[in-house]
Parts: sequence; C-alpha cells; structure tokens
Amino acid sequence: MNIGHWITAPCEMGEAACTFTRRLAINKAINKATVYASAMGVYTFILNGKKVGKAVLAPGWTSYKHRVLYQTYDVTALLTDTNTLEFGVGQGWAVGQVGYTHVRHLGAPSVSVTVCIEIEYADGTVEEIVTGEDWDVYTNHVTSSDIYSGETVDLTAPIELVGKAKPIELSSKLEAQMGEWITEHERLAPVEVIKTPKGELVIDFGQNMTGYVEVKIKASRGDRIVMHHAEVLDKDGNFYNANYRTSKNENVYICSGGEDTFKPTYSFQGFRYVKLVEFPLDTVDPECFRAIVVHSEMKRTGYYRCGNEKINQLYHNIIWGHKSNYLDIPTDCPQRDERLGWTGDTQVFCRTAAINFDVEKFFEKWMGEVALEQEESGAVAGVVPTAYENSTSKISAAWGDVACIVPWQLYQSYGNKADLAKWFPIMKKWVGYQHGAGPAEFLWLGGLHYGDWLAMDDGQDSYVGATSNDLIASAFFAYSTSLVIKAGEVLGENVDEYKELYKNVVKAFREYFMENGMPKSEFPYTEVVDPYRRGKGPVDTTRLGMTQTALVLILHFNLCTEKERPALAAKLCEMIKSNGNRMTTGFVGTPYILHVLSDHGYTDLAYELLFQEQNPSWLYSVCHGATTMWEHWNSIKEDGSFWSTDMNSFNHYAYGAVYDWIFGVSSGIKPCEDDPAYRKIIIAPHPDKRLGHADASIDSRQGRVRSYWYYKGDQVYYEFEIPSGATAEITLPSGYKTTVGEGIYHFAES
Ligand code: BGC
Repeated sequence: MNIGHWITAPCEMGEAACTFTRRLAINKAINKATVYASAMGVYTFILNGKKVGKAVLAPGWTSYKHRVLYQTYDVTALLTDTNTLEFGVGQGWAVGQVGYTHVRHLGAPSVSVTVCIEIEYADGTVEEIVTGEDWDVYTNHVTSSDIYSGETVDLTAPIELVGKAKPIELSSKLEAQMGEWITEHERLAPVEVIKTPKGELVIDFGQNMTGYVEVKIKASRGDRIVMHHAEVLDKDGNFYNANYRTSKNENVYICSGGEDTFKPTYSFQGFRYVKLVEFPLDTVDPECFRAIVVHSEMKRTGYYRCGNEKINQLYHNIIWGHKSNYLDIPTDCPQRDERLGWTGDTQVFCRTAAINFDVEKFFEKWMGEVALEQEESGAVAGVVPTAYENSTSKISAAWGDVACIVPWQLYQSYGNKADLAKWFPIMKKWVGYQHGAGPAEFLWLGGLHYGDWLAMDDGQDSYVGATSNDLIASAFFAYSTSLVIKAGEVLGENVDEYKELYKNVVKAFREYFMENGMPKSEFPYTEVVDPYRRGKGPVDTTRLGMTQTALVLILHFNLCTEKERPALAAKLCEMIKSNGNRMTTGFVGTPYILHVLSDHGYTDLAYELLFQEQNPSWLYSVCHGATTMWEHWNSIKEDGSFWSTDMNSFNHYAYGAVYDWIFGVSSGIKPCEDDPAYRKIIIAPHPDKRLGHADASIDSRQGRVRSYWYYKGDQVYYEFEIPSGATAEITLPSGYKTTVGEGIYHFAES
C-alpha cells in the first residue's frame, strides 16, 4: 500500500469544495481491489456515481500536525471495465475555520487528498495507482462549505474542469483508521411547522441534536432554500440563534428544476429548529424534511427506565447529549463556534459515557491525540486536538487531569491492561507537570484555570464559581497522583516515588487549605485573570475554601482523615439545606456531589437534589422543556429570558454525568476497582419510593448486568442479572450481603 502522495487543486478554491477524479480501465480479471484514502478537509468517496461506505465527514478530526487517518474500502465488487473514482473534498476541520478564534489551516493550506488503489489481478500481478498530477480536479456543486458556517449546494452550477491536480508535500503521518466511523443514525420527522409571532417559518424536529436536515423538493431551476438553525425559541416563540455566536449554521440550496435531495456533505449543525429563511413553495410539506442524526458509531450498552417521567426525560437528555457530542472527538457542544475537544468536559462525562455506549475505541483514538499533543513539560491543554495557535496558555486543573481520569476510567470499564500501559506515561507526565506548575513544591498555586466552571456561588452572572482555583488545582494534583499509583500497581510498576509524592501533596494541601478539619474560608486571588473567561462577573480579590465544591473535593479525593469525614459531610449537608436543598456547584463539584452524599449516609439528601426542580438542579431544564443537557443550570431563566448570549449552549453534556450516580448508586451497579470490566460487580442499590421502580442495565464485556427494583407498598422487590464469568457482591439496604455468580436473583425487603 502506497499512500502519502498528496494532491491539491491547481488554483485557490476558497470555500468551495472540489472533486479529485481519476478514470480507471480494468482489462483483466481481478481478485481483490482496495482503495486507501485520506484527505485534508473532509471527503466523500464516489465510485461510478455511487458513494462508497457509510462514513461521513471522513477522515475525522485528529491532531493534524502530527497525524491524519486513512480509511480502507474494499471495492472488489464495485469495479467494472471502465470506472470513475471521485473524491469530493470540503474544508472540514483541517483547512476551514475552527473554534471561536477562527484559526484556519490546522492540517493544510488547501483541501488535499491522498489515494492508493491497490488491485490484485487473478494472474497474480498487483497494480497500485496513486494520486498524482494525472488526476483531474473539477468544481463541485458544493460552492461553499465550512463546518461552522454551513454549506451552499448549487445544482445549477456547472461542473467544470479546474485543471490537473498539483502535488503537495504534507508532513502529517498517515495512520490507519481507528476509533469509530462517523455515520448517520436516526431520521427524525418534523413534529410541527410553526409560524412564529414574527412571521417566521420554522420547522420543529422535537429533539435537539447533531446532524443536518435533508430536504427533498421539486421546484423551479434556480429556486433557493435558505435554512438557519436554532436549539430553542425565545420566550415569545420566535426563532433564536444568538447563542451560536459567530457560527452561522446556514445551509443554502439552489434547485436544479428536477427532483432534488439536499443535505450538507462537508458540514453539520447542532439544532432542533430550522427556520426557512427562503423557501420557494407556497406550502411546507413536513414529509419533505428529515433531520438526520450524525455521530460516531458507538455500540449502545446502557439502558435505564424508572417510574418517574421527569427522571426518564433527564436520562433521555443525557443520552442525546452524549450522542450529540461524540462526533469523532468528545466535544463541549455541537453548534456554536466551539465544538471543541474540551478536556474538562471530557473527563467529567467519561464515566457516564462508558455506561451509555461502548466508548473504548472512540477514546483509544482521542487519547492518541492527547498523547501527541502533550507537551514536553507534561502539560495537557484545555482543548485536544488543539484549535489555537497558542495552546500553552490554556492549561487548567480539572481539564488537563483528563490525562489520568480517562485511562483509569477505561480500565475500570473495559479492563484492558495493554491500553492502560499505553497511557501510563501520559498519566505520569501530567502529574510531573502539576508537580512543577507552581511556586510551591507540593501544591499547584497560581496559573490560569477554568475553575469551578459555571458554578452558582459567585453571583448569577459569573462564568466561574467562588471556589479557590488553587484549592481545586491542588486537589486534582492529589487525585491524579492517586490514579497514577493505582494504575502503576495494576501494571506492576514501581510507584514508590508517586506514593511519596501523594503523601506530600495531601500533607501540603491540608496545611495550606485546611484548619481544624475544615477548609479555611478564603484565600488570596493568585490566578491569572483571563478577561474573556471571567465573563460578566466581578473580578473578586479573594477565592473561597468553604464552598460545596471544596467540601466535595476534599471528601471525594480523600484529602481528609476518616475522623474528619462526618463533620465535613455534615457541613456540606448544612450548606445544601440552607440553600433550599440546592447545589451551588459547577463543572468541578457537580460530578461528585451525589456520590459524596451517599457515601456518607446522606442518600436521602442526594435524592432531594436529584428531584429538585428549582434552579440550580438537573430537573430544572427538564421542567423547562429540555431535550438535551444544558450548559448552564438555568440557560433559560424563570422569566423565559436567556442566562447569556455568549455561553449558553443547550447541548452540553457535562452535567449529564449525574447518570453515573443514578446507575452506580440508585440502581447500584459498579465495576469493582480490583477486578474491573464487570468481572467482579458491586450491586448495592439505594431504592427510593419517588422513583417507584428503576430498571438499569449495561451490556458489559461480560454480558448483561441488570438491576431492577420496584416498590409494592413499603416492600421493595429486587431482580439482579449477572452474566457468566462474573461474580457479584450484593448488598441490600438492610445490610444483607451475599456473593453470587451467573444467574438471575430475586430478593424482597421492606
Ligand atoms: C466550553 C466549556 C469548556 C470551557 C472552559 C467553554 O467555552 O464550552 O464547556 O470546558 O469553555 O472554560
């Protein structure tokens, strides 16, 4: 296989896609024909007029300066005597603009392809045809395309020869496709065609999602369809997309005059609503529109259903948040001018992700980008793959810790020691970075952090919560070090050095941040202030130690003694209760808060938080019509206005991490750390009458693990399913314990 001969168009194509074409005559019998292809940009492979394979947006998003993936297609059955191979290429992530800094050319200065056609003839000879100057470049009906801006398809535009392809030298390493293919999934029919108070024509697909709308239409030649996308309507029911910021999300279709089917080929949108800014027909037939869901092709493994419809809707929103944001890389959101591999969001959600879907392959690829982009110092940026010219300024605690949290989580879910060994050096390097990051040897003080992002305890308008960033950074330093120790022990590595470090970090943490078994109340502001990231909030001169998030981290990361736990947990409860049974936590504290409560005997309060409907809470968005997870607890405020314009995504999965508690504690299924991948399972449900019943399962590598419980009066009935090869330690709320192997087991308790 001879791939790596890159070609590009002979002249500047601007935003337009182009097609690289090669005709191929076959005059001998063939045994096997394989096409290897990749692009800088995103490509679609057409052979003899038909799309080959099911992938869209190939070759996906990698750290292009290091590597780009190639895909392999078996075309043996598709070749005839005379063939035309066409590779349509749009700008994608490698050439077009990326992120809110609108950086361009992450992979190449212009759209490019590399192809190798390998033919094994029946007579035993092998021929390789590769991309070169003999390929032709044509214009494409996609006259403009960009991931963020959207796509223009003009079926009246003539397809013309641009010229012969031009070879181009690119240094990215080509590696075989890994991870999952990006593919099309559900096709959603409109639920309603709305005429808004402003008179706009809007189609509601009933579900916020990632993908694009397919339109089938017969209109006059040259007629235009212009579509804008939105996730929500405003409080008056009008179309609203200001939260997309500079991301235009505009698809323009120009009709041929015949029966046309349009959808973008090199772009995608995050949306629930589509506004028909221009539409040529008098009536809108919903049958002509379908919203096609696009994401990485992960196998669904987790299922959940309970007796509370609001919690069921929350679960639905978590699943859709997941699908919407696992498009080749784990993103923060799929719609505005970000859609980036934010590492903080990724670590927050990865435990839930590994319950919902089989994400091992997905992360195998993305962790590869983390490895490639980790700096010599061990630093891991806020965004991977990088989308900034200068990523070094964006290294934050709880974001970079993805380097330790994801590998350890994958090992818990899939038990793959070889992968853990592969990522172990990255984990150690990150801890090494933390160790050298600040002026103090065993604390991480100072630096630019995203903090307890979007927490509610520093004023309604602040992007960052009140918890000291120094405290958060030092707590995560200890936590990541503990994960290196665990991983090293699994791998039989000597981790004495890390044990010593861990002891010192915990000691330093306790001395600096705590007194009398409690966090100190406040600290000087030592962080660098990033004006953009501070949002509208006041720039405070002190940061707090006595916050819900600080208590959660101290308890969850074992930064206290056993003796100190009861008082710390009681303090956390007191703070929650005095806030009307509500959290104030953001991205950092929220994933662990329910775990901390139930670990310390406050499961009832954990349920209070789960069932809370007032802002901030998980059900607030559910009660306000959400179909995916919102970025901010009250992205839509009680009065119907929006929390902000510039940080207000309605498809941000981070807070969906609560499913990890619903599954692991309420339904009570957890893999055992010492014998992971659900070979040894901890079954310890915590039923609650308000749920009525709960049925949770995961199709683990061992097989299906299921916990089902339901109330009949005050009696709770349990049914547990344990797959072959697994053992389960069952603990019921009464304290009754038993260990079982494969089978279905029933219990009842009152
Ligand atoms: C993203 C977040 C991300 C954050 C870092 C935002 O703009 O959407 O989810 O983690 O920036 O502060």
